[in-house]
Amino acid sequence: MEFWTLTKRSRCYNCSKLADQIIEIYPNQAFVKCSNCGATRCYIIKNVYIDNNNVIECEKDKKLLYDNWLLEKEAECYNCKRYAIQDILITVAGMYVRCRNCRFTRYYRFNIIYISEK
Ligand SMILES: [Zn+2]
Ligand SMILES: [Zn+2]
Repeated sequence: MEFWTLTKRSRCYNCSKLADQIIEIYPNQAFVKCSNCGATRCYIIKNVYIDNNNVIECEKDKKLLYDNWLLEKEAECYNCKRYAIQDILITVAGMYVRCRNCRFTRYYRFNIIYISEK
């Protein structure tokens, strides 16, 4: 299945090391995996809509347990099919992916953490 991948260097909530966090975004789910310890946060699609309310701008400054990550990636939008910048906001509670061209937005809700046994 086609998916988008991004990397964010950040302190891992599980192993506390500064390590690349590998982000994979599929149409129906998304993952954030620590390259050091393998702990993986899984998110599941909750809804898709056209955002008219600046949801990312509203959510990005909310204080949660961990820092929110605001990323961007140029990719072909699933909705308008253009190659456009996608704004991506990742929090401990969920993940928003929004096309800058058509504002098509996918919201994934946090589901579960897998911690790999060593
Ligand atoms: Zn880790
Ligand atoms: Zn689009």
